Amino acid sequence: MSVYAYASLRRTTPCPECRSPADWVGVQALVGDSLRWDVEVACPACRFAVADCGGELSDEVREQLLAEHGAAVLRLRAPAHRVTVLRVLRAALGLELAAVKDVLEQVWGGAYVGTPPEVELLARRLRAAGVDAVASVGP
Ligand SMILES: [Zn+2]
Repeated sequence: MSVYAYASLRRTTPCPECRSPADWVGVQALVGDSLRWDVEVACPACRFAVADCGGELSDEVREQLLAEHGAAVLRLRAPAHRVTVLRVLRAALGLELAAVKDVLEQVWGGAYVGTPPEVELLARRLRAAGVDAVASVGP
C-alpha cells in the first residue's frame, strides 16, 4: 500500500456518554478506487465506543489533514496527451470542461495539491490511463 493512501488525525474529545476525555481518530483512506472517511471515538473511562464509517469529510477537518500531513502534489513525470489527462481529471473530479482546463494548467505547473489520498487517487487513475503520474509530498 502506498504511503499516500492513508492520512489520519488524532484528537481528544469529550465522551458523549460520560464527558471524560475520549480518543477521536479520523482516517481518510484510498480504498480500491475511492476515498473513505472513517471516524472512531473510544472512551477509556466508560468504554463507550462508536465508529462512523464512510462519512463526509468536512472542509475544516480536511484543512487539518493538510496541515498535519502536508499537501501532496500531483506530478506528471513524462509528457502526456492533453486530451487523456483532461478526460481522466474531468471524470475523477466531476468538473465542467472549463474548470478542468484550469486544473490541468495547475497540474502542468506542479501546483495542483490535495491531501495525500486525494492526490494518490488522481495519480492512480491517470496511470490506469497510461499517464506517468505520481503523488509526492515536499519539494
Ligand atoms: Zn465515556
